[in-house]
Amino acid sequence: MTDVSFAALGLSEPLLRALRAANYNQPTPIQARTIPALLEGRDVLGIAQTGTGKTAAFALPVLQQLVQQGGRAQPKSPRALVLAPTRELAVQIARSFDTYGKGLGLRLGMVIGGLGFGRQIDTLNRGVDLLVATPGRLLDLVERGNVRLGQVTFLVLDEADRMFDMGFIRDVRRIVAAVAKQRQTLLFSATMPADVATLAHEILRDPVRVEITPQGRTVDRVDQGVYFVNAASKRALLSHLLADNDLERVIVFTRTKRGANRVAEALDRGGVPSEAIHGNKSQNARQRALDSFSRGRARVLVATDLAARGIDVQGVTHVINYELPADAESYVHRIGRTARAGASGIAISFCDSSERGQLKSIERLTNQRITVLVTPANEDLPQPQAPAPQRRDERAEDRSGERHGFRHPHRSRGPRHENRGREQQGRRWHDDRPNSLERGGHDFGDYRDRPPEQRSHERPQGQERRPHWKRRRRRAA
Ligand code: AMP
Repeated sequence: MTDVSFAALGLSEPLLRALRAANYNQPTPIQARTIPALLEGRDVLGIAQTGTGKTAAFALPVLQQLVQQGGRAQPKSPRALVLAPTRELAVQIARSFDTYGKGLGLRLGMVIGGLGFGRQIDTLNRGVDLLVATPGRLLDLVERGNVRLGQVTFLVLDEADRMFDMGFIRDVRRIVAAVAKQRQTLLFSATMPADVATLAHEILRDPVRVEITPQGRTVDRVDQGVYFVNAASKRALLSHLLADNDLERVIVFTRTKRGANRVAEALDRGGVPSEAIHGNKSQNARQRALDSFSRGRARVLVATDLAARGIDVQGVTHVINYELPADAESYVHRIGRTARAGASGIAISFCDSSERGQLKSIERLTNQRITVLVTPANEDLPQPQAPAPQRRDERAEDRSGERHGFRHPHRSRGPRHENRGREQQGRRWHDDRPNSLERGGHDFGDYRDRPPEQRSHERPQGQERRPHWKRRRRRAA
């Protein structure tokens, strides 16, 4: 934190009120340096990781300037655009705008992949001042003529290095080419490899450079320990550890999606409320799991590496690596979930005999020896309970994702229809959505949405549904 106040940075009274309501007493260093520069109309190159308060650093001045510009939101023509590499990050950014922008009379929209187009298009048609988007979906909507970017005079690229990592950079360049030439541009990145520096040079005009060096490496702020344990005893060891209430808010990492489901189910059965989050779940289901965890309804979130990208939940007390990741960098990323915003945390790894090599490469990368913890004797561990019969939707998920990567054509009817019913009957995800600014138009899609790989009509090439005449012939035979 810094000595200056938010008021001294030049923020208007409604924003100061929203900050007080959010319990933000003082600006973080990146906010103290970025907000005045942006309010002066300068471009900014921010080198900062999540957890430094970078979202508010760009959101507050953008909101203030949109209000100062005045005017009503025009259909299909946002004035500010924030690009994020992942859906989860986009949702978080939209939430931040919601928090800070209450009562400003602005309209916020969000377009992200994995959800239906219908609501997103409606939202754009009604008009939004500010749009938070992932690049692929935004370009789809641009190509369909549902959104025009020519009026975008504030452009924010968040986590630019991850845009490169995830292969989005061509999409990003196309988007940048479509926004107004006269604009204010902000580029944030946790790291500054050469390709990000080149992009920054291309799209920023005489930027103010703000670099926030993290307070020590994440790996130095996390207490790390490892249990050497048989693969078969991992579940019992996990239950044993969770008997300790100090493990208040825990993320457990597994290597596979199915593993994540199984561990979450076993914990649930043992009375530990848990949620699983992985790439086979629909965007809505992922967000619901994340919400349940961040609101404390679930004590444990079981996640795969990919799904964990962009998870920013405050107060994660422990990260448990139920299985070690294949690459050492993912380990650093995983344990970073427990040391947000400069806090410290605890990371515990389970290492079976097949994972010794992975442990070695982690120690090599972090240049640290991980403390070996004493594994309790088998008889001291809780006895595993018989698994409950798999839920039908879980069976469907296993069938649809893990082995085939798509839903089996002959089995698709039952689970798909059942899922649809469950979503329709249950509490709809929209109810949990952040209130949009002035109820303008968030778009988080609807219950029909499925990631493409789970939609039976979008099969991988060469795996098309059997033509109906073939099916008829089979039945006749
Ligand atoms: P970010 O780096 O934007 O992902 O923010 C990390 C976390 O810090 C978020 O949960 C914010 O709500 C919180 N935060 C940001 N700025 C402040 C502040 N000035 N005071 C307290 N918390 C903050």
